[in-house]
Amino acid sequence: MIDQAFIAAVRARVGDEGIVSDPLQLLTYECDGLPHLKQTPPLVCLPSSAEQIQEVVRLCHRHDVPFVARGHGSGLSGGAMPIAGGVLIGLARLNRVLDVDIPNRRVTVEPGVTNLEITRQVAPYGFYYAPDPSSQQVCSIGGNVAENSGGAHCLKYGFTVHHVLSVEAVLSNGDLVHLDSSIADASRSWMAFRSSPLKQPCIRTSRRRKRS
Ligand SMILES: Cc1cc2nc3c(=O)[nH]c(=O)nc-3n(C[C@H](O)[C@H](O)[C@H](O)COP(=O)(O)OP(=O)(O)OC[C@H]3O[C@@H](n4cnc5c(N)ncnc54)[C@H](O)[C@@H]3O)c2cc1C
Repeated sequence: MIDQAFIAAVRARVGDEGIVSDPLQLLTYECDGLPHLKQTPPLVCLPSSAEQIQEVVRLCHRHDVPFVARGHGSGLSGGAMPIAGGVLIGLARLNRVLDVDIPNRRVTVEPGVTNLEITRQVAPYGFYYAPDPSSQQVCSIGGNVAENSGGAHCLKYGFTVHHVLSVEAVLSNGDLVHLDSSIADASRSWMAFRSSPLKQPCIRTSRRRKRS
């Protein structure tokens, strides 16, 4: 149950700037892009590191508090809708591109990076990130992975699942797992963990073809 002691414990881990508990501000998080389904969360926390995600999830596990991950809230299926009495873990502050490895066509990002930002990062080298939901300017890679999102390019190049090489995910008890396409059928594994906050997706980029 979320009481003042629980909120204080979360605050101790993510700091004042990582907590939203003001009733007016909480309204921002009551739904995603499916606005006729709403649930105001009692508490939103905005971790700014993978360790903070783990600590908050561990707290939820210990106190039997449900949680839902939220990327940028553009989903159309209510996936980021809060659970009554639970914590909403917003991952928008985890928005750094960690590594751009052009020779191996790999980009490693934090989950709150927008889809289009990947293409911006690799465009100078003649590459782009193929899965292209129409919301690509605003939606996060974490949300893309959880929803297996895609747009027009996917008809030819496949969906998000075909471009994810590995992920690190925090399980519901706070443990961190690394899922890698070389050690498992990652396409099925990460779907099984889809409700856990993804820490560090590593994704594949595609080379732009020159028009003749
Ligand atoms: C105008 C518009 C156009 C769209 N066009 C398309 C389209 O062409 N194709 C398409 O597939 N979708 C489309 N969408 C839907 C949506 O943008 C995508 O599903 C997108 O992937 C959601 O990303 P998000 O960051 O907003 O995720 P959210 O809406 O915040 O969350 C979506 C789901 O992912 C989970 N989640 C989010 N981040 C994480 C994380 N880090 N770890 C674990 N779980 C997480 C949430 O719990 C939720 O279940 C569109 C939406 C809009 C508003």
